[in-house]
Amino acid sequence: MVIFKKVADLQQYLATPGQTIGFVPTLGALHKGHISLIDIAKKANDIVVCSIFVNPTQFNDKADFEKYPITVDADIAMLIESGCDVLFLPSVDEVYPGGSSLSQTYDFGYLDTILEGAQRPGHFKGVGQVVGRLLEIVKPQYLYLGQKDYQQCMVLTKLIELMGWGNKTKLIICPTVREADGLAMSSRNRRLTDPQRLLAATIYQCLVSIQGKQTTDNFSTVQKECMDLLRSKGFEPEYVALATAKDLTLLNDYDTSHPMIALIAAKLGDVRLIDNMLLN
Ligand code: AMP
Repeated sequence: MVIFKKVADLQQYLATPGQTIGFVPTLGALHKGHISLIDIAKKANDIVVCSIFVNPTQFNDKADFEKYPITVDADIAMLIESGCDVLFLPSVDEVYPGGSSLSQTYDFGYLDTILEGAQRPGHFKGVGQVVGRLLEIVKPQYLYLGQKDYQQCMVLTKLIELMGWGNKTKLIICPTVREADGLAMSSRNRRLTDPQRLLAATIYQCLVSIQGKQTTDNFSTVQKECMDLLRSKGFEPEYVALATAKDLTLLNDYDTSHPMIALIAAKLGDVRLIDNMLLN
């Protein structure tokens, strides 16, 4: 695997015409979920580029940014093992040469007003800014993202549209990789204490119950059961929501005439966890 820290060196390396580039952007602290994206990308591309960049502009919570795990040596070892071709490991100055305030941002409208957008003001603006910049640097044919961050997938679909890159870069949404008890793998899981880790799969259990009750119960009843269960286990739930899978229109009740998705965000101690499940 070749590691680049400078945009110019990366672009020179990628300049050979005719090769397809698959791109996996990450914040590092890699786990099997990230590696699954590399595996999927490897099957369909000549070159797989992974980036590790803890983008300061997407952290609405300063403490979350400061506590974000950094494990670059272990990440590099995992990427080599996975067969990833290129790691892009830039500095903040390299990504935002004129300062982040001058780097282009995008307006995601409705998507930025609900769920993660509402709970984390400014987060998607930062995500759009960094991924827009990374796409311009890497110019991949395929962009691989995890379903775990479903709303982010919707936001970045819109980013590609707003950039006018619909015929240049295709977004591939990859399945969520889970621990044996159902907990979605996440870099933040390593900040859970052992007792918290034992409780963390409650979020997944709630999603399974929301899915299982779609033909028998009202969503508001199941939503309340989930909120109560999460609180009883010591979580602070932020939302337990139901939406259309196509465009994240929030639903008050199950409507099996649309593909639906259930989404949950909850804090356990100071660790914020999110997960989702397609229902039908
Ligand atoms: P992050 O480093 O958290 O920004 O994640 C980088 C990419 O990996 C994003 O597209 C995530 O959605 C994806 N990802 C994170 N966790 C998982 C998981 N458990 N399964 C599949 N993809 C994931």
